[in-house]
Amino acid sequence: MPLPSFPQQGGCQCGAVRYELTEPPLGVYNCHCTDCQKMTGAAFGISMPVKTSAFRHLAGELTFYEKVADSGRHVRLVACAKCGTRVWNDPVAAPDMKVVRPGTLDDPSWAVPVGNVWTSSRMPWVEIDPDMVNFEAQPPSREPLYEAWAALHAGEK
Ligand SMILES: [Zn+2]
Ligand SMILES: [Zn+2]
Repeated sequence: MPLPSFPQQGGCQCGAVRYELTEPPLGVYNCHCTDCQKMTGAAFGISMPVKTSAFRHLAGELTFYEKVADSGRHVRLVACAKCGTRVWNDPVAAPDMKVVRPGTLDDPSWAVPVGNVWTSSRMPWVEIDPDMVNFEAQPPSREPLYEAWAALHAGEK
């Protein structure tokens, strides 16, 4: 699935919160940590780190919830004040980055995951593709995931 042209927009379920990505993300991967399972109410979350400089909040009142992740890092979860959809996270230690939830994109079809993190706590029926970039817990660095994403899209315009 090739990358679309940018900017790309997205938003919450009720439509109040809107955002825009002016550049492609750094990567897309699945997170099977127990926090993501709780917060999504699903088997895993999907993380899409983007540079803060490539992200614009266009509209909608936000609410914030700060938590300590399984990794020990502090994360601020950003949600729509009206419908409660969690749209992106602000990693407190990395203000140059935002982690957007690709399911909130208007067109999420191109945001194909290249890896899996926290596979040790995946739901037992979830099959992990061994050809993807996988980590049993928090990866020491996201670079291998970013490299896999870059390799997947190498040669596109
Ligand atoms: Zn909303
Ligand atoms: Zn997670």
